[in-house]
Amino acid sequence: MKKSPEALAPSELTSELTNQLANESAAASAAADLPEASASAHTASAPAARQRWAAPAGETSRRFEILEKSIRRQTGKAIMEFNMIEEGDKVMVCLSGGADSYTMLDTLRYLQRIAPINFELIAVNLDQKQPGFPEDVLPTYLDKIGVPYRIVEQDTYSIVKDKLAPGKTTCSLCSRLRRGILYRTAKEVGATKIALGHHRDDILHTFMLNMFYAGTIKTMPPKLIADDGQNIVIRPLAYCREADIKKYAAAMQYPIIPCNLCGSQPNLQRQAMRDMLNEWEKSKPLWIKSMIAAMQNVVPSHMMDRSLFNFTSFQMEAGAAPEGDTLFDTDEAPSLPGQNVIKFM
Ligand code: SF4
Repeated sequence: MKKSPEALAPSELTSELTNQLANESAAASAAADLPEASASAHTASAPAARQRWAAPAGETSRRFEILEKSIRRQTGKAIMEFNMIEEGDKVMVCLSGGADSYTMLDTLRYLQRIAPINFELIAVNLDQKQPGFPEDVLPTYLDKIGVPYRIVEQDTYSIVKDKLAPGKTTCSLCSRLRRGILYRTAKEVGATKIALGHHRDDILHTFMLNMFYAGTIKTMPPKLIADDGQNIVIRPLAYCREADIKKYAAAMQYPIIPCNLCGSQPNLQRQAMRDMLNEWEKSKPLWIKSMIAAMQNVVPSHMMDRSLFNFTSFQMEAGAAPEGDTLFDTDEAPSLPGQNVIKFM
């Protein structure tokens, strides 16, 4: 039986959930041999998929369990560390029909069952009226698993096609339109949080795209106040690897709807980042972990941003800085980056 959340201090809430998640020890890499989800339509229901993996009671089933626990653990960790979900929240889960959003919904449903706090979930899908969009897929799926939902029908497809010249990249305008509609829908359904299915790799790609093409250091934060100032956006999969999500989605046989019904061309810059990171994942896995750690370990005084650090009139402080200075030397790479740099995962 759930404990009353009112009876628990915030730290106790966190440690209770940590304990439950810790009981499910995980190692995502053990699931490396599982196949990845494709954009082809799958027809089996989620419970059937679960059975399919459980049935042989062998290696494959075990690897699936490990993968599932890893995704749950990493999601729970991100939720706790960024205080994404609180008692009484109503979380609007944005369900596009892609592997990420199905995985997020399932994982949040699981955490809802075990968490020592109460929160609601409502799935929302935006039917953008792309030609060939299979309208019945998500309602059928959501009815089957018993999650409340709303389908919002809005023809952003025509707007994008009207506004942009043929051959222009459509995703940026499309997602801006989508964002506005989702913010409005969040208010209509009384949601206190909007959950998006972006994962660790999305965050890394965006970080690198901004650095290489936009001259700024920023990415998709796990939690932020939306640009309308009235919604809080959360990214519960912020610590989850894309490859794990794809494998999980394939195992669960979600009815995937591809996000290119609009005929949009692939985003070549993002694909280049993806290819580079995939290569590093194989050859330099510590680099990836260190990049994630670096995003959580920013030292403004050792960057060059005058708006973040007062370079013009700072005062001498008593004593030397604990890490010394780098006035005359460049930073040494830590000899054991696994111990010195990587702070999580
Ligand atoms: S692929 Fe099409 S539907 Fe998906 S974001 Fe881009 S323009 Fe929009």
